[in-house]
Amino acid sequence: MDKEFLEKVKKSLEAKKANLEARLSETAKKEDGDHYATRFPNYGDDEESAVSEVEDYDTNVDIENNLVKDLRATNAALKRIEEENYGICLKCSKQIEPKRLEAYPAASVCLNCKKR
Ligand SMILES: [Zn+2]
Repeated sequence: MDKEFLEKVKKSLEAKKANLEARLSETAKKEDGDHYATRFPNYGDDEESAVSEVEDYDTNVDIENNLVKDLRATNAALKRIEEENYGICLKCSKQIEPKRLEAYPAASVCLNCKKR
């Protein structure tokens, strides 16, 4: 895989990582590694606030689960660049289509394996 392409991918993955971490830090507290704990919101002591707190907490947990999933895929792709096996399908060991990597730089399997 050519160096220029890898540099481009690395930059876009790093930007994505920073963006995901910034979004996560709005509602969650970072723990060890890539684990995040959702903060419980505090709107007040009345019953209405308590209901909103629980609702927002649930929403935040859902949003964070998706962000964390994205972040892990992004980190894994950065690690593959470092280990110089980026762009190799984890299932069939073939080269992942460059078009697919351009559209989704964190891709870890090729289109064929994805469809399966
Ligand atoms: Zn494959």
